[in-house]
Amino acid sequence: MLSKKTKVKYTEKKKKSKYPMVSFQIFDKWCKRCGICVDLCIHNVFMVDEDGYPRAVKPVECNVCGFCITRCPDFALRILERGEKNAQG
Ligand code: SF4
Ligand code: SF4
Repeated sequence: MLSKKTKVKYTEKKKKSKYPMVSFQIFDKWCKRCGICVDLCIHNVFMVDEDGYPRAVKPVECNVCGFCITRCPDFALRILERGEKNAQG
């Protein structure tokens, strides 16, 4: 057991992005769940949800390279500008 002096508090510091913070709009109706956007993103911004749809779980890592939106065959993905609201609600 650790003494009081050696106890360390593990608190994850809020990660600061070196890129502009973005958010994503994913049109599930158009998305065919091919996973291209998930596989292409080298920053692992997306994860697949239980239904197979991509979800932006780490938008703070996005460098806005645009690969995901330009390679989506169904135009089902877009990057929202700062302050822009997700039209899907
Ligand atoms: S814009 Fe680039 S970094 Fe951002 S989620 Fe898409 S592929 Fe990843
Ligand atoms: S690339 Fe487009 S169609 Fe494929 S999973 Fe991503 S959003 Fe859906």
